[in-house]
Amino acid sequence: MKTLLGVAAIGAAAALGLASVTLAAGAHLPPWGFDLAGRDTAVSPGTDFYEYADGTYVKNLTIPADRSRFGSFDALQAAAEDRVHKLLDAVAADKDATGERAKVGAFYRAFMNEGRADQLGARPLAADLARIRAADTKSAIARLMGHAPDTVFSSFFDVDIGGDAKDPDHYAVYMGQAGLGLPNRDYYLDPAFATQKAKYEAYVAQMLHLVGWPDADAQAQAIVATETDIAKVSWTRAQQRDPVATYNPMTPAELAASAPGFDWAAFFEGAGIGGEGRVVVAEKSALPQIAAVFAATPVKTLQAWQAFHAADAAAPFLSKPFVDADFEFRNKTLNGQQELRARWKRGVALLNGYMGEAVGKLYVAEYFPPASKAAMEALVGNIKTALAARIQRVTWMSDETKAKAEQKLGMLTVKIGYPVKWRDYSALKIDEDDLFGDVEHASAFEWRRKLSRLHQPVDRTEWHLTPQTVNAYYNPTVNEIVFPAAILQPPFFDPAADPAVNYGAIGAVIGHEMTHGFDDGGRHFDGTGRLTDWWTPDDDAKFVAETRRLGAQYSAFEPIAGAHVKGDQTMGENIADLGGLLLALDAYHASLGGRPAPVIDGLTGDQRLFLGFAQIWRSAIRPDALRRQLVSDVHSPEVDRVNGTIRNVDAWYAAWNIKPGDPLYVSPEDRVRIW
Ligand SMILES: [Zn+2]
Repeated sequence: MKTLLGVAAIGAAAALGLASVTLAAGAHLPPWGFDLAGRDTAVSPGTDFYEYADGTYVKNLTIPADRSRFGSFDALQAAAEDRVHKLLDAVAADKDATGERAKVGAFYRAFMNEGRADQLGARPLAADLARIRAADTKSAIARLMGHAPDTVFSSFFDVDIGGDAKDPDHYAVYMGQAGLGLPNRDYYLDPAFATQKAKYEAYVAQMLHLVGWPDADAQAQAIVATETDIAKVSWTRAQQRDPVATYNPMTPAELAASAPGFDWAAFFEGAGIGGEGRVVVAEKSALPQIAAVFAATPVKTLQAWQAFHAADAAAPFLSKPFVDADFEFRNKTLNGQQELRARWKRGVALLNGYMGEAVGKLYVAEYFPPASKAAMEALVGNIKTALAARIQRVTWMSDETKAKAEQKLGMLTVKIGYPVKWRDYSALKIDEDDLFGDVEHASAFEWRRKLSRLHQPVDRTEWHLTPQTVNAYYNPTVNEIVFPAAILQPPFFDPAADPAVNYGAIGAVIGHEMTHGFDDGGRHFDGTGRLTDWWTPDDDAKFVAETRRLGAQYSAFEPIAGAHVKGDQTMGENIADLGGLLLALDAYHASLGGRPAPVIDGLTGDQRLFLGFAQIWRSAIRPDALRRQLVSDVHSPEVDRVNGTIRNVDAWYAAWNIKPGDPLYVSPEDRVRIW
């Protein structure tokens, strides 16, 4: 789980596993970019704006059996998936393909050869299991854990290489907590997840049986008990969001002294960073306690733990019993998904994951009109102007901090569509008869790419999402906002739609990403991407007080009886949603150039903007997936992203004539005003 260097993306879909359905690709929504028939006009806007704007669409929505959720993001992702499917079919059938194209084709053919995977059974995993059996000392196991990034092995500690938050021109080695097979510590500790935890233990046993591991049932019990001990000392998702608390540089010797009971030297050698003099530790108090769990766990249990995790990671690439077991637990039990996705859809996900930029190059050549880039650049410019004006206008911030905020905004980098420099896959070996080997080679290839960057200047051209991903992100260590090609389609962005709808949709998305630079996490970084405190103590206190009020509003939301939104865990996203919508409104108003907005179908410009905003969040989600999102995702549920945001915006009250007594009404003095 890569949470250390996490970029702030707008959507949760990617975190919940992508699936697919066949829908028209990026269909234009009549008559002016908003689906009027999708409203539920029996509900008044002040009662439930999400229902009013999206209710009929959501009511008529059936989540496809092979998905755990469906909505605006997912419909576009499904369309992108269909496009990639066509591209991969063509490449895989191309007998004359050479170089990177030939590799993409071979990798896809390797995955689609289901017969061969079934024939091989558990055999592809045999060499890895032999390595685990041979690792019969604690040091040998620590060394195997060091190989987690470049194999199917797992580790109690996460290691990654990314931009150094306090030296943003260079890379650093990051260390963090890991070791859990369930999505989050809450699954081990919260009685609400007791069923999932029991099924997890059964799944661990099933996987160990499938690979013929001795004493599978007893070991499964020991493995889950060990992971529960790790969960107890792990930081919460909310704590992990704190960029200051998670930046703890030390030498490997200092780490070893602070976290005894684990052979750190063997671990670092395994990871290929034995000579490094400095690591940045994220969950500082958790690592010593996880090392203590390691020290207290018998070698036999640690070996079984590693064997289970290797089988779990390899399962999608092995024979049917592995694939089915993996689906039953990971997709059905944890996400409520009813059916295994078609093999080609899983093949698309595999190629997007391991050769994503090679696929992306094919995708943009076919599906990204150059005009979209120019139109987006203009929109980004308008939103940026709006944020600069907001920074000047806010009353709680001193002139001193305002000047620095403006400076940071001025240094923001914007990336649209696809990378200027594509990843080079020439060193990646692909054999169409060896699917599992290909996956291992691709993991090792990726880790070598990261290792080779240590002590090199940061590559500011890098992208953390592929062009065919429906999402967007802000990356604080390079102070940039990034919009992949696949999100630049209706209902997010449609050059033919009413500008009010575009501002409410992609305009709010742009504003969302831009304000991430100034949310409770992003504000700790300056314009160069350096983690540094540039706020006066007084401004800092005022900002924190205002965000606490926002957190209290969201913590009151209870999407499932007894399960609330976590206001601290979702804080950055909620701040960005609010900021994004305000900036979209400002920029839309400025775009009118003093002329009144036209009225269309009886709706004013501001009304259409709010509808465009609500439309991008319309969706349905299965209860298990929602429960998972509430404890492990930094994004609030979609209904709260709409209703929780608009009720803090004065213009929404004016646009819809919302009055005291309306359920969504918040009195002016209680509205949260950050930007
Ligand atoms: Zn976000």
